[in-house]
Amino acid sequence: MSHLFYQTKSPRPVLHRAEGIYMYAEDGKRYIDGSSGAMVSNIGHSNPAVLDAMRAQMEKSTFGYRLHFQTEASEELAEKIVARAPEGLDKVFFVSGGSEAVESCLKLARQYVLTQGEGTRYKVISRYPSYHGCTLGALAITGMSTMTAPFDPMMARMPKIPAPRAYLDGLDADDPATGLHYANMLEQKILDEGPDTVMAFIVEPVGGASTGALVPPAGYMQRIREICDAYGVLLIHDEVMTGGGRTGTFFGAEHWRTAPDLICLSKGFGAGYAPLGAMIARGDMVEAVMEAGGFVHGFTYAGNPLACAAGSAVLDVIDKGGLVAHSARMGDKLAERLRGLMQRYPLIGDVRGKGLLTAFELMADRATKEPLPKSLNAHSRLVDIAYDNGLIIYSRRTRGGTSGDHFLVCPPMIVTEEQLDEMTDILDRSLAQFM
Ligand code: PLP
Repeated sequence: MSHLFYQTKSPRPVLHRAEGIYMYAEDGKRYIDGSSGAMVSNIGHSNPAVLDAMRAQMEKSTFGYRLHFQTEASEELAEKIVARAPEGLDKVFFVSGGSEAVESCLKLARQYVLTQGEGTRYKVISRYPSYHGCTLGALAITGMSTMTAPFDPMMARMPKIPAPRAYLDGLDADDPATGLHYANMLEQKILDEGPDTVMAFIVEPVGGASTGALVPPAGYMQRIREICDAYGVLLIHDEVMTGGGRTGTFFGAEHWRTAPDLICLSKGFGAGYAPLGAMIARGDMVEAVMEAGGFVHGFTYAGNPLACAAGSAVLDVIDKGGLVAHSARMGDKLAERLRGLMQRYPLIGDVRGKGLLTAFELMADRATKEPLPKSLNAHSRLVDIAYDNGLIIYSRRTRGGTSGDHFLVCPPMIVTEEQLDEMTDILDRSLAQFM
């Protein structure tokens, strides 16, 4: 009997080894990592350059507590991140994952508004659906009742606005009026809550697990920035899933040329080689907090040199391989293939995404957008069929709204066109079995 506490109904096979986009179970069965785990393994598995960098770091040191030592590895990684970040966001605080990055942003934001004499501001507006992490602070701003319901009494109530799911509302996502329509809901919410109580707004530039690669409508991201500026509300981009190049730009928000005040980063930038995350903050915010006595926050493993060395090597691999541009190209090819399947399977109601953050959604009726009945359990059934056929995809059913079962198809950014064909063939076969 295993002593591990599995979160799947039945234990999954034992992983023996993984290389590139392929993972092999102990019994020799091969799986295509079509979701990069949970959109993490962006550069694929067992990259030799990253393994070498980690080995070299291990020879030097594997841990240095951040209050006792700076390390070359963390300094180097911070420099590389700032070089890619929007102007003015030049301070990096390392953590070990996405939820920790989100918590760090919330707490720095709060300490910053205190330094500005704005202690009445504490509310963080977020969207519904959204996912920002499983710790209680991040969960309080998560809009996903399946994840939050048991813990509701333990959390602060935070205001939420609808995510801009234009495809469900019958609106044209390319029409700037649509972007304005959804973004102005933020302004209304700020006014309803009382502008002097609102501290921040947090947004995933391209949706992840909650909305299934939802791309914001034209003008949305720009208008959000304007509204935050008008009401003195801090803007947080949760780039935990989008940061690191998957969408075809290093940060997801680069597609709309907007800059936030704080960025949360994790997943693809450690790429699964080590637990790694970061908050990237406006330098003046950090300065104000430090002058007022310092940031009252920190995790023991933060800035771990081994994790930082891995992250640094991952960024080099992304650069040397031109993987951001490759991700944009392969994303287009993948979307083409998924749209091909859409023509053959009326059950596929939508294909969406940016770069290799790509999803399709199953619906009972493409025209009315009616979701499949919950009792069909489509999200886990199709995932299981594909898994048996050797393809890993990622799915969620977002309840509490009208959205149905969406499936993220997000292979590592090193994927080739031939491998996309292989994935599409397995998906085709799996959909046929599902019907
Ligand atoms: N934010 C976003 C947008 C995410 O997609 C996730 C994880 O899926 C998180 C935060 C939480 O990250 P972690 O699971 O590493 O704590």
